Amino acid sequence: MKQYHMPNSVKELAANFQNIQQVINAVCHRIGRDPQTIRLLPVTKTLAVNRIEQAHQLGFSHFGENKVLEAKSKYEALQHLNIHWILIGHLQTNKVKYVAKFIDEFHALDSFKLAEKLNHRLQLEKRQLQVFIQVNTSNEESKFGVKPEQALTLIEQCQIFSQLKIIGLMTLALHSQESNEVRRCFQSLRALRDNIQKIYPDIKRLSMGMSSDFEIAIEEGATDIRVGQAIFGARDLPDSYYWTEAN
Ligand SMILES: *Cc1c(COP(=O)(O)O)cnc(C)c1O
Repeated sequence: MKQYHMPNSVKELAANFQNIQQVINAVCHRIGRDPQTIRLLPVTKTLAVNRIEQAHQLGFSHFGENKVLEAKSKYEALQHLNIHWILIGHLQTNKVKYVAKFIDEFHALDSFKLAEKLNHRLQLEKRQLQVFIQVNTSNEESKFGVKPEQALTLIEQCQIFSQLKIIGLMTLALHSQESNEVRRCFQSLRALRDNIQKIYPDIKRLSMGMSSDFEIAIEEGATDIRVGQAIFGARDLPDSYYWTEAN
């Protein structure tokens, strides 16, 4: 298990960011990828707004949040900063109105009904949303996302929605110490993207990899890695709180 060090100052936070960037650079160097093709998305769930302000001072302007109401209170507190809020967690249809107001990117679209409600609300707000389809590549009951074989159908159905721009696929790998099992999840997302991209050339991005597995994700083609604890320190709440319960 990795140890996650909680930064005690902006300087330490900067050092954590630098360490992650060095790891990204090293993996890219090893496999011949350009590090510029990878976006490091800091995940700020459970963090206080002053920590987000610090990350913003260090040059980051896109932040990932898992729950829309938590994101909303941070958006309201930090409106003076030019921050792009990215929702990376499951969304209930009764909360689409919040997303339509201030979220710029949503990584967990997993149903037609949700897409329809989002599109309707976005039309009222005259806003667009960049979207990733969440795919359940680990075949665990507890995880959200469409089955791999359902992704293309959902994408086809969503073509009528003027306010949604589908730009990629997202997954959460199996939570396992077995790196081959983790890798298999990322490989299956990439293979799916390769097939879908033949029909929809704008669906290019792969949102995959987090603190524990972003190196494997980069090796398998990730373009967007969602990293929280390795930057900001360990969280108290178990991941299951964020990943499986309705919110
Ligand atoms: C919390 C979260 C992450 C980041 O996890 P860390 O262990 O903090 O890196 C990535 N993706 C999703 C969907 C999350 O909820």
